[in-house]
This record gives sequence, C-alpha cells and structure tokens, in this order.
Amino acid sequence: MEPDVKTLLPSRQKIEKVLGRRVDKLPPFPLVALRLLEITRDDSKSSADIAKVVEADPSIAAKTLRIVNSAAYGALRQISSIKHAVVLLGALEIRSIALGVTLFETMVKPGGHGAFDAVLFWKHAIANGALCRAMAEALAYPDPEEAYVAGLLHDIGKAIIDTYGKVDYGDFLREAADSGSMIEAESRILGLRHDDTGAYFCNAWKMPERLIGAILLHHRRFRHLKATADEALLIAIVSLADFITWNQGIGSFDGAQRPVLNPDVEGIIDIGRLDLQKLMARMDREIQSTAEYYGFSFPSMENFRESLLRANIELGRENARQQHAQGSLKRELQTITRLRRSVTQPHRSLDPRRIIRDTLASIQQSFRFDRVMALKIGSDRHLLVDEALERKKAGSDLKAQRIELNSPDSGFVACLRERIPVLVDGRTDDERRALTRLGSRQLGIVPFSVGGKAVGLIAVDNTPSGRPVSPSDLSAVAIVANELGVALEKAHTFEEIKTRATRDGLTNIYNRASLDTFLAEAFIRARDEGHRLALVMLDVDHFKHLNDTFGHTAGDSILKLLAGILTKFSRPSQIVGRYGGEEFLCILHDTDLNGALSYAERIRAKVENLGRLLAKRFSGYTLTVSLGVAVYEEDVDSVKALVDRADQAMYRAKQSGRNRVVPYER
Ligand code: GH3
Ligand code: MG
Ligand code: MG
Repeated sequence: MEPDVKTLLPSRQKIEKVLGRRVDKLPPFPLVALRLLEITRDDSKSSADIAKVVEADPSIAAKTLRIVNSAAYGALRQISSIKHAVVLLGALEIRSIALGVTLFETMVKPGGHGAFDAVLFWKHAIANGALCRAMAEALAYPDPEEAYVAGLLHDIGKAIIDTYGKVDYGDFLREAADSGSMIEAESRILGLRHDDTGAYFCNAWKMPERLIGAILLHHRRFRHLKATADEALLIAIVSLADFITWNQGIGSFDGAQRPVLNPDVEGIIDIGRLDLQKLMARMDREIQSTAEYYGFSFPSMENFRESLLRANIELGRENARQQHAQGSLKRELQTITRLRRSVTQPHRSLDPRRIIRDTLASIQQSFRFDRVMALKIGSDRHLLVDEALERKKAGSDLKAQRIELNSPDSGFVACLRERIPVLVDGRTDDERRALTRLGSRQLGIVPFSVGGKAVGLIAVDNTPSGRPVSPSDLSAVAIVANELGVALEKAHTFEEIKTRATRDGLTNIYNRASLDTFLAEAFIRARDEGHRLALVMLDVDHFKHLNDTFGHTAGDSILKLLAGILTKFSRPSQIVGRYGGEEFLCILHDTDLNGALSYAERIRAKVENLGRLLAKRFSGYTLTVSLGVAVYEEDVDSVKALVDRADQAMYRAKQSGRNRVVPYER
C-alpha cells in the first residue's frame, strides 16, 4: 500500500496519553491466539498442530470442548478430546473456535467497569468474522481464514479502550448516544478512535500488514491510498460485513446509530451479485453454534431479526398515530434505541424464571418506570403478582398480591381479552381495589401470551414518583411483552423437545429412537474400527400377570424401578434404554461376551433381590427378568441382525425357565 499502513497508525505517545499508561505495561496478545494464527490452511500438519497448541492450555481446551459439545453442534456422544474434535469437525473449525474462546476470555470478558456489553460486542465480532470468511470465499479472496480473523478483530480497539482506557467504553456510549457519528464522538470524547487503537495494537502484536490495514481503514475512505487489489478487497469485505451486521441488528452496542456504508466498497465489491441470503445463513449457523457458550440469545437469529423488524414497524405505526407529538423523529430514535435492548433481552436465556426477571429489569432500565411487575393468571379468575421490580421499596410486599377479575368492564379483563395495552386509572370497583392493593395511582398493563393463550401481563407504574405512564412508552412495552411470550414459548418447547426427542416419557431413560442412533454408531465402530460391542436384551417375566392383578399403575412403577436399577448399574459408556413395552436394551462398548454376561448377571441378581422385597407388596407375584446377550461378530451384517441375536437369546432364557441370563448360540 502507498503509503505504508504503518505510517498511518497513531503514535505511541498518543495511545499512552489516552490510555493513561505505558503501552509496554499492557498485557500482550495471548500466546495461544498467536500460535493459532500461525497455523493456516496450507499447513499439512495442521490437525496435529492445532491439537497440540490447544491442549497445551487446559482451560482453553476445556472451553473449546464445551462449545463443541453444545447442543448446536449436535454430537450425540460426548467429544472428550481436542484430537477427537479435530477429526470430527476439521482443524480450521477448531482453530476458529479456540481462537474465539481465547480472545473472548482474555481480551473481551475481563472488561472495564461493566457498562460495556461484552456479549453484544462479541456477537458482533463472531458474526463479522463468519460473514467476512463467507464473503472472502465467495469473492475469491486468497486467504479466507485471514478474512475471518480480520472480522473477528476489526473492533478490538473498543474492547481495549474499555479495559485499559481512562474512560469506560460503555459510559462513553451512553454519553455519546445522541451525537452524530460515533467515530467522531470517539475522537472528540475519548481522544482516540477504536479503529486506530485496534490497528495500533495489531501492529504491536506483529499481525500481517493486510490485516492491520483492514482494521485501520474499515470506517475510512481508502481508494486514494493505492492499495493492492487484495488489500483493498479485505478492507471492503470488513466494511461491508460491518455494515450488514449492524443493519441486521447485530451491532457491537445498542444504539440508533448505524454506520453508513463506506462509499469505496461499491467500487470493489459488486454487492448486487453477492448471494447475501446464503452468506447470512452461514453467519447464522456460526453464531448459533457458539451461542450457548457465549451467552447469546439462543433462538435463531432469523427470529431475532424478524422481531426487531416487527418492533420497528409497530413503532412507525405508533408514531404515525401521534404525528402531533413533539420532536417525533428524535423521540422515535430514542424509543428504538431503548426498545432494542428490551426486545432482545427475553431471548438471552432459556430458563423461564430468568427470562421474566431479565425482561422486567430491562424494561425498567430502558423506560425508567418506578415499578415493573409480571402478573400471571391464576386458576380462578384472578391475577397474581409473580415478579416485581421496584426502584425504591414502597413498603408493602408486591409479590403474591392478588387482583380479582370480577367485572367484565375492568381494564384488566379488556387487556387480557382483547390483547391491548390499557391504562388502568380506577374506573371500576375492580380497578380501584387493584390500585389500592398495589399502592398505585395509575397502572399501565400489557398482556403476554404463550401458545396463543394469554397467560399474564406486565404492569408498569410510577409509584412513588407519581409521573404518568406515557401511552407511547406503554405501546413499546407491549412489543417487549410480545417478545417475552415468544421467548417463553421457545424455552418451553426447547425443554420439551430436548427431553421428548431422546428420553422415554415414563422411565426417563433413552427411548427407542435414541437407542437406534447409538446402535448405528456403535455398530460402525465395531465393524470399521474393530472395537468390541455387546448387547443385552432384558424382558420382564410374567409382566402381564402383574398388570392384570395389580393394575397398570403398579406395572408402570415396576418399569421405573427397573430403569433406575439399569442406570445405577451402568457406567457412562454403557447405554441403557427402553426398547419396547417391558423390554430394555443395554449397549456395552468395548465389552466381550464374558464381560457382558457378568454385567447381565449382576442385574438379574439385583432384580431378584428387589423381587423378594416386592413380593410382600404384590403377593403371588415375584418380579424377575430374563436376559439375552449377543456380541458383534464378523458375520453379523447389520444392527438389526445383532439385535435379533440378543432377542433370540432372551427368548431362550424364557423357554428355559426365566430369571436367567443366556448367551446367543447359533
Ligand atoms: P413373559 O415372561 O413371557 O415375558 O410374559 P409377559 O407377561 O411379561 O409377556 P407379554 O408379552 O405377554 O406381556 C407383556 C405385557 O407388558 C403386556 C403389556 O400390557 C405390558 N406392558 C407393556 N408396556 C407397558 C407399560 O408401559 N406399562 C405397563 N404397566 N405395562 C406395559
Ligand atoms: Mg468498527
Ligand atoms: Mg415379559
């Protein structure tokens, strides 16, 4: 590049003056991250190298494995080593994850004084990294991995200023929220721009020059600098990715300010010809995969964008209705800014209690109400205060206060029935009673629904200050309440699906579908990798008799007892599940016939003992089980053939008198 990028960097004196400390006193770039950066796509030994570098730092290795094992990556078996992870997901994927973890843990999470939202910042970084890589591939940039790193690091200056600067970046953002360009505000208020800061340090850390250039110039015109084609393309990629993520609501902080697209980008990238949809989908997948670990909102970003869009449309309508309102544009910007935080808040957890609490906190923070409550509908025509947040305790305890819903013309009933925001000010007896009970003069309420059914409402008021609740704030809260319902529903479905899909409803051990998946995996391991594999099929003896004599519930409780025994007697590598009605199957990895026989015998004896105890309760019935054992051998050509062998053995056990263990014989 003409001139050399390094001549464009800020001076050390300037950096030291603004940060208020000597640069050489700042922590260096994490060593693990540097080593990871040295490993590239062309490196033929990269798999082994990655594993070595990551495993050398046990804490980074453990954190990387946590991401790899998260729900989103969907591995059925726990992946317990980095080597294994590299084999399954590929060296470059593991490099990206480990690099992200290292930078997040050392440079982002430690943070300054807490006002800077590290999670939001990091989501922006990861999204940008993923989008830059995808774009680099689509545009034939020679080193897509470098583009990934450039995207990941493009705003690192913000984290550095936040952690080491005299002024906390979060405080700065609050201060500067209303001023024009953020970049100008950085220069004016902090004395240093984040792009300058990031580039300065990346240079100090000896990063490649192209990368430094992209970080330095992602908010600047660059055509006049006579960069080489690749240098210019990388800057353009980072700028465009930044622009797209901000416009999708994944900016690095909350704010109405969005960057404008760098005009030089369009001279280099033909945006019209990019398949943005495809690129975004890739970015989504990447954020999703790491969401759990970094604490991003879990439900898909697709939904997130949709809800933000909905919120903005709603607000537009609201503003059209209030054309006469003063300074409507400024107000709209402010409301959108406040709303953005609240709207995303419900999606940050999958735990219903936390979702409700965090949403209330975020509403209170954003809209500055004195009190915010969540009320849920009780079973007999009343509302109950479920959670309450008060700026100042007003004396009486709000939690568990009841509000009766007797008169059909009370605002509470209208709110729930018509799903509309209502300002309750004491028109009916019900309303007056409720206000007295809550010590309130005027209450704003909005409903929230789960699965199409109104389940509760959010109530806000300004007690003790007495300020009226503004209708436009209340309609913004209604949008947040809508998000709350969506988030609660997601949380509910997530829990349900997670357990329903893999576990048996009665016994809570693996169900047939899970067993089939495990069987297929185990079979491949045995056939292709020579591991030993044994199956034990277990069937309850004379179960029909128990059911007929003592009822189905008694039968169910025996099945639960058996599942408990099987779980207790099995190591984590031994998988137990319910195969059918009163049949259980155990998959024993790395186990030979003798091992499987003794495992089965231990279970048989344990059940026999339990049966003796239970005989007192179910007189005339003795609980026992019959077990069949089969091991994988070369002439077994399918999972089904192997299960059949265990089944046949089990039937022989029945025929030869029950309460015994029988191995398969030809
Ligand atoms: P055998 O010793 O030959 O196995 O006799 P059995 O009575 O155990 O075998 P059979 O196959 O004739 O009957 C199995 C019974 O298991 C019939 C069915 O009602 C009962 N069963 C299957 N699933 C459940 C369940 O979920 N709960 C209860 N309580 N009973 C079940
Ligand atoms: Mg930036
Ligand atoms: Mg039976």
